[in-house]
Amino acid sequence: MSSEQDPLFSVEGQVAVMTGAGGVLIGGMARELARRGAHVVVVDRAVDQAQKVAEGIRAEGGMAEAVIADVLDRKSLGDALSCVMESYGRVDILINGAGGNRKEASTSPELSFFDMPSDALKFVMDLNLLGTIFPTQIFGRIMARQKQGVILNISSMNSFRPLTKIIGYSAAKAAINNVTQWLAVHLAQNYSPGIRVNAIAPGFFETAQNKFLLRDEKTGELTARGQQIVGHTPMGRFGVPEDLMGTLIWLVSPASKFVTGIVVPVDGGFSAFSGV
Ligand code: NAD
Repeated sequence: MSSEQDPLFSVEGQVAVMTGAGGVLIGGMARELARRGAHVVVVDRAVDQAQKVAEGIRAEGGMAEAVIADVLDRKSLGDALSCVMESYGRVDILINGAGGNRKEASTSPELSFFDMPSDALKFVMDLNLLGTIFPTQIFGRIMARQKQGVILNISSMNSFRPLTKIIGYSAAKAAINNVTQWLAVHLAQNYSPGIRVNAIAPGFFETAQNKFLLRDEKTGELTARGQQIVGHTPMGRFGVPEDLMGTLIWLVSPASKFVTGIVVPVDGGFSAFSGV
């Protein structure tokens, strides 16, 4: 029996709602779940990106549809839920992947912490933290009714120890770890032990949201920060989306059925290395 057919790791026939799946990492996760027979709902506010991911999955023989919604707008999330319920009548997996940082919320030679604009800080805090809580309220209500479901939040390694420059993003991801534990306890105690909530904390993956910090915009060479990161990663490289898939499948399948309220680092050893 291949691992894909093993019932312990099966996601076949599961309805997976995935916010931010128009992007690099969650789009990769969407393809992996679809490849394993899940019905994937690509929720993103970027229409073209969401449609591209869903079309790509269908072209490979998977089941996917794009649903446009903003994770900070409950009305649009409610509309997305209506679409999902009409198509499938249930929600088995929710992945809260929409998130990211903004240049204006990062310190730099041009921008001191003291001058950081409040709207940029609020944007990053809201997107990552409330953008995880609001979809959980909307889609999690169905899981509470079903007494069954798996929620996977996307944290970051900067949630355990903050990284320099990115104050709002680090604080918001730390809050996601706290919310992951809170929800795990609340949903198990008040609704059903069949509802689990965990998080993945990816280390450094080179994507659109952090490229400006990792590579020189003109030459494409690693910045001093990019070099420092690779130098501090025992595995000596940035992560690629495939590095997340084993942890993803474990956390959304019955293989982790007694696991709830944890945050799993996937960081090539970055957090284990003292630097010496
Ligand atoms: P990405 O920018 O490629 O994808 C993010 C997606 O979220 C985009 O498609 C965007 O349109 C969507 N989005 C943004 N705001 C939204 C909103 N309000 N409503 C709905 N959709 C919205 O980013 P990525 O690198 O794939 O990151 C995915 C997740 O992983 C994020 O939560 C990010 O913080 C986290 N993460 C990334 C890294 C990394 O190194 N790239 C490391 C740790 C954690």
